[in-house]
Amino acid sequence: MKTLFTVLSVIALPLCAAAGDKLAGTPIGTAEGYNYENNRIERNIQGRAFDGDLDTYFATNQRSYTWVGLDLGEPFVIDKVGWAPRTDPDGYGERRVQLGVIQGANSPDWLDAVPIYMITEKGTAGLMSYDDVDCSMGFRYVRYVSTSDARCNIAELEFYGTPGEGDDSHLFQLTNLPTVVINTVDSQEPYDKEHDITSNIIIIADNKANVDKPGSVRERGNGSRQFPKKPWRIKFDKKQNVLDAPAKAKKWTLINNYGDKTLMRNLVAFEIARRADMPFVAWSRPVDVILNGEFKGCYQLTDQIEVNPGRVEITEMEPEDIEGDALTGGYFIEIDAYADQEPEGSWFVTNNRQMPVTVKSPDDGGTPEQLAYIRDYLSNIEWLISNRKFGKNGDEDYRDIFDVPSFVKHFIVNELVGNTDTYWSTYMYKDRLDPMMHTGPVWDFDLGFDNDSRTYPIHKHSNEYLYRFHGSSAANGMKDFANGVLINDSRTKYDITEIWADARTNRDLTPDALKEYIDRTAELLDASQQLNFMRWPILNECVHQNPRALGSYEAEVDAVKEYLDTRFADLDRLFDYDPESGISSPAITAPLVPMVIGSTINLTDGTTFTVYSVDGTEVFAGSGTTPALPRGIYIVRTALGAAKVAL
Ligand code: CA
Repeated sequence: MKTLFTVLSVIALPLCAAAGDKLAGTPIGTAEGYNYENNRIERNIQGRAFDGDLDTYFATNQRSYTWVGLDLGEPFVIDKVGWAPRTDPDGYGERRVQLGVIQGANSPDWLDAVPIYMITEKGTAGLMSYDDVDCSMGFRYVRYVSTSDARCNIAELEFYGTPGEGDDSHLFQLTNLPTVVINTVDSQEPYDKEHDITSNIIIIADNKANVDKPGSVRERGNGSRQFPKKPWRIKFDKKQNVLDAPAKAKKWTLINNYGDKTLMRNLVAFEIARRADMPFVAWSRPVDVILNGEFKGCYQLTDQIEVNPGRVEITEMEPEDIEGDALTGGYFIEIDAYADQEPEGSWFVTNNRQMPVTVKSPDDGGTPEQLAYIRDYLSNIEWLISNRKFGKNGDEDYRDIFDVPSFVKHFIVNELVGNTDTYWSTYMYKDRLDPMMHTGPVWDFDLGFDNDSRTYPIHKHSNEYLYRFHGSSAANGMKDFANGVLINDSRTKYDITEIWADARTNRDLTPDALKEYIDRTAELLDASQQLNFMRWPILNECVHQNPRALGSYEAEVDAVKEYLDTRFADLDRLFDYDPESGISSPAITAPLVPMVIGSTINLTDGTTFTVYSVDGTEVFAGSGTTPALPRGIYIVRTALGAAKVAL
């Protein structure tokens, strides 16, 4: 019914729209057509898509990136297109046109091509469909690029328009999201992480070209590269502003979110990191992507994690910075289970527990002096932690050179997201003349929010920190490192409670506020997710580490919201925070043993302490003995911790 409605409505349109003339030109297209009647490859049969005969068609031998179009001889502003699928006995033709993209260009190599229309419905065999085109720019070359694996298979194409170059005031966008268009030289598909394919990259937002610059594209990622929807890294030839990103930079990532059927797990996790007050949280926006005319789905255009103003903002080292103050930074490193896959000289293992570490900045690991400096610096921190140098009895304290609150924030974000791989890859940085090694930024959350069959459901493991569960993975030595900070150093549990309580109370890190963010994001993504799952119909199958397939986008989003309700409750308990009263109360420790004498609370060692009633009201502050208090439950806090007391 929907198809019928579309056809009827578009047939009616030319009556009210001022459509230009039907355009003629020289048929052009994928060089090798395939003539199924003769079962052989033939050249120059692109004209079959323009012969007015719905029974003849243009098909190709190649499966993907195939196209057919017209050289109009001069630019025309296109205002209407028509198409008809191949009529074939098996009935494949009708759905083959779905997600076909119609493009215009003024350069015969198509590097400047932009989409002017996308077919989102199945076609009707033996019938032309028409629709208006919403693009003010004129093009000499126009073409239909078939969706992947369809061998073109188009019976008929028509273009209507008026002569002229038009203007760039209104370009076509696939949905409300920005459209990222990547056109590579000779339509070569990116094929690995090493070879940059020369490209022109166009980003259309608010129906205007936000970016139109030369650059390159290659694959990126590790696990996420195994899927048919590939993750890419784009690199402009020169530093470039993109949409509303704070950084001006060459490198940007396109995250594929194949196994994340909400298409927003990373966005939500980054939002959590901002609310946990972490610095350098990656900028990220959902976008639609077209590569060489093929629609690839909904991606996330995101900062490359690197040292750059607006990204990780530390001093960028030069090769001559090999002594004195200059040698002290900045360094940006990744404790990285995949470090040994990096080129020699750009990674190391720590001296004690052989933690694998990639040096992200300086580039390529820097000079031997720089690599040795940061290796020894991190190794020293590791040694102090594993030898429990916690500043007791005049001892050294690893906290003088390691920023524990940043490590705790990183930990809290990952625990809340339920990231099984928290310590598989951990970024840290050290700036010049700053003695502190800091942890962050956070990255890579497509397995979070109960999306990992190895640890699903996270709730089952909520009596301990997720990273300690045996199904959680970590780079060699990193679980020991984390245990040293989070468990062995008894001060850290107060840091955890304090940071968690602050974010919960003052920074909108609440289930309701996050669910509201998720609803808003789902609305933003709605048109794009529909196209995405048309292109990748996987809502009913488990991919990557999916523990279950819920059958619809809405159900996948709801599952994340339900997960957050449960996870907040579990972490409130684990982190000793009472969401009702807003009181944080880590478990009692030796220095804090309040005694109840009659109806008073006493700390006999002279420590100053504060007493709160369960509703959070302060009822006493001082030392020694409280006045007589009414019967009830009280929280007693000192600088070292808190305890619950019943009177
Ligand atoms: Ca034909």
